Amino acid sequence: MPDGGMPLARLVDAAAALAATRSRTTKTQVLAEVLRDLDPAEAEAAVGLLLGKLRQGSIGLGYRTVLAAKRSAGVRGAGDTPLTVADVDAVLDEIAGLAGSGSAGARSAALTALLERASAEEQDFLVRAFTGEVRTGALEGVLTDGLAKAVGLPVADVRRAVMLSGSLPGTVRLALTSPEALADVGLRVFTPVQPMLASTAATAEAALEVTGEASVEHKLDGARIQVHRDGDEVRVYTRSLADVTARVPEIVEATRALPVESVILDGETLMLDDDGAPRPFQDTMSRFGAGETREQVLAPRFFDVLHLDGEDLIDRPLRDRLATLERIAPAYRIDGEVTADPAVAERVSRDALAHGHEGVMVKAVDSLYAAGRRGKHWVKVKPVHTFDLVVIGVERGSGRRQGWLSNLHLGARDPEGEFGPAGGFVMVGKTFKGLTDELLRWQTETFPEFATDDTGWALTLRPEVVVEIAIDGVQRSSRYPGGVALRFARVKRYRVEGAPRQGAVPDVKPADEADTIQTLRAMLRD
Ligand code: AMP
Repeated sequence: MPDGGMPLARLVDAAAALAATRSRTTKTQVLAEVLRDLDPAEAEAAVGLLLGKLRQGSIGLGYRTVLAAKRSAGVRGAGDTPLTVADVDAVLDEIAGLAGSGSAGARSAALTALLERASAEEQDFLVRAFTGEVRTGALEGVLTDGLAKAVGLPVADVRRAVMLSGSLPGTVRLALTSPEALADVGLRVFTPVQPMLASTAATAEAALEVTGEASVEHKLDGARIQVHRDGDEVRVYTRSLADVTARVPEIVEATRALPVESVILDGETLMLDDDGAPRPFQDTMSRFGAGETREQVLAPRFFDVLHLDGEDLIDRPLRDRLATLERIAPAYRIDGEVTADPAVAERVSRDALAHGHEGVMVKAVDSLYAAGRRGKHWVKVKPVHTFDLVVIGVERGSGRRQGWLSNLHLGARDPEGEFGPAGGFVMVGKTFKGLTDELLRWQTETFPEFATDDTGWALTLRPEVVVEIAIDGVQRSSRYPGGVALRFARVKRYRVEGAPRQGAVPDVKPADEADTIQTLRAMLRD
């Protein structure tokens, strides 16, 4: 690259080329070429812009602020100095550093000044990047492939480094600096990794057919935790890798008492009654929010161990990891049994439900820990049908709900674009059931931030808010584009940062991990 680094226009062209093709090979090629031309020092900034996940994190640029800034900025005249990635990054640093009174105005001013220097195409690109209006999930996959191509390494090696370091932009930088160093990326205590995820089956028996011999475990309805310890220091992370250590002292104490030097544990936490029965999910969450109230204790329950005393265990079969867990933390293990017998699996499943749990997880005993992956090695079975869907619109309430944003439009993910654009969301139903006054208040305040259109009667929302919905089943529908509609849908909880009842450990789920239209359609056949 010439001095001054990569021109922003180069990223804009790449984004346009990506949008213009559905071919994964072409997308990979486009990204490989851009990455190859990056200086390692600007890699994180450039990747952040491409993915719409800024290096600076969330810096308080709301949708309205960005659009207002774009409106007040003119378009750069020909002949002005072109913007570079480094220029944009410097302004974002400046904005991130603003705090206190008057900072909102200063943010808008800095943003407007930046957009004034941009061409029309660059402005559109920046608006999308700043408002997070990029389909990050799918793009991260091709970017990983593109990086492998750019530096000439196997995709699996790059993917692994991303998962273990927990950072795609960081991996790009490392790979561009010294590709051979990627092989040495391992787990690091206090660097949380993307948790392994599960696919779904209707029954324990069906799950067992997928996994073969499996550890059939109770599936607890709490919040995922990843606990890291080195010596006396312990940190606790959520599913979205946020550090919540300060809010969960009992988990810290329990982990500190284990007979280990260093460890990384994967598990679930929930609140238990005096007699050991799980309390409803809402209670667990409000206890998190309550901070120091200690009468009701949050119990950690571990189901996996990824690292022990200097040694990574993720490439050992689950069977060995469970034996290690049994040795170091028997009191905190989740109940379960290793079996290949469907009758035993069904018995464990009934037992889980009798104990008030959600269902079971069925995990292939020979499988390795695949960080961040949803595969066939872990299969969840939840007899109570709940799905994580995305709010794609909301209607203004009438009558008793006058003045509130009430009836939710629910979308299921369509990764392959079977019913619309790939990676889009297909409407499958509406609901205002299960919404407490607190949730109504929250969504009425929050949803306008996500609005892209307002007909007066309803708002269209950017598909970002994941909501867990319980249903009695599904039915065929000629009204909805996916041919399937939810029956008796009701809201269980929101799975986004800042929603009520989420307290200190929000079990946040990004929209690109929401349940798919294909999963719902499969229920038509059950
Ligand atoms: P879901 O959020 O419905 O996709 O289900 C996966 C979640 O179940 C995990 O992220 C954990 O938070 C939770 N879970 C509860 N019990 C277990 C278990 N025994 N093994 C793995 N995950 C579990």
